[in-house]
Amino acid sequence: PFDVLVVGGGPAGVSAAVYAARKGISTGIVAERVGGQVLDTMAIENLISVPYTEGPKLAAALEQHALTYDVDIMELQRATRLVPAQTPGDLHQVELESGAVLRAGTVVLAAGARWRQMGVPGEQEYRNKGVTYCPHCDGPLFKGKRVAVIGGGNSGVEAAIDLAGLAAHVTVLEFDGQLRADDVLQRKLHSLSNVDVLLNARTTEVAGDGARVTGLTYEDRTSGEQRRIELEGVFVQIGLLPNTEWLDGTVELSDRKEIVVDERGTTSVPGVFAAGDCTTTLYKQIVTAMGSGSTAALSAFDHLIRVSTP
Ligand code: FAD
Repeated sequence: PFDVLVVGGGPAGVSAAVYAARKGISTGIVAERVGGQVLDTMAIENLISVPYTEGPKLAAALEQHALTYDVDIMELQRATRLVPAQTPGDLHQVELESGAVLRAGTVVLAAGARWRQMGVPGEQEYRNKGVTYCPHCDGPLFKGKRVAVIGGGNSGVEAAIDLAGLAAHVTVLEFDGQLRADDVLQRKLHSLSNVDVLLNARTTEVAGDGARVTGLTYEDRTSGEQRRIELEGVFVQIGLLPNTEWLDGTVELSDRKEIVVDERGTTSVPGVFAAGDCTTTLYKQIVTAMGSGSTAALSAFDHLIRVSTP
């Protein structure tokens, strides 16, 4: 059995594994793909001390760093169930899709999240070529350009306010008849001169010239008309889905299905910790994921030295 078994090989999981392995305890990573969302990223410019890198390069560096230590990496494996220890000091079990069962004194859940997609033509084709899901990451690429934000909830309206300071113009498209963001955010949004809000707008297509996004088509749901906006960027902000379906009923999840953690990365199950985008942490970034991964591993170590194992 492992002392620390990490589920997830993104920035949070790898950081947790490196911190655990450096304590000289047996450490494993089980992950569908090492690198996680980083693999889907092109330019990364906000990993502090690394002014520029690219997703696949960072993903390879994450794996290399883990392999510097005695970390057992089990890739292309999907965890399907967590069976918590019945009594303190017992082992937790993680069941895999393959049928294998891994046992560990502590578990760090770092399964990450995925952005909800619009599912319209052009979205996949122009991903990272104008279609993006992360204003904190990609906002500066659209300085002086025209962009749209899809979604009028808190994250969409926050993104629009943020982008209005950089972009030439921002159009917010909301499917519903009203924005769902907090009033204070809506007031701020409406005070900005370079922002338009379109309600009852259903995005139907992202258009491009083969290399980059050039526009967006939407249906005005009140009239049924199709309209087009010329622009260079589309920020999709219709939800971040944590990869926690397999944990429902085992660890406490928030109403957004994020694993509820405290500042130590502790979950509702003793000996089970969590880190990164799958948790209730406020900001979802590579640096924050790495930080919370190290926190979860140190908390796991702290737990192990306090619990007597059978
Ligand atoms: P993830 O990276 O999502 O990793 C999750 C891991 O868990 C993966 O290894 C996955 O395979 C595994 N996994 C999930 N479910 C299971 C399961 N059931 N069993 C086994 N393994 C499982 N952040 C920045 O700071 N800067 C950027 O420039 C930036 N750009 C981005 C661009 C894009 C297109 C995207 C999508 C995100 C971007 N982000 C950026 C956000 C950043 O990638 C995430 O915040 C970060 O990767 C979260 O790390 P994580 O380890 O928590 O989760």
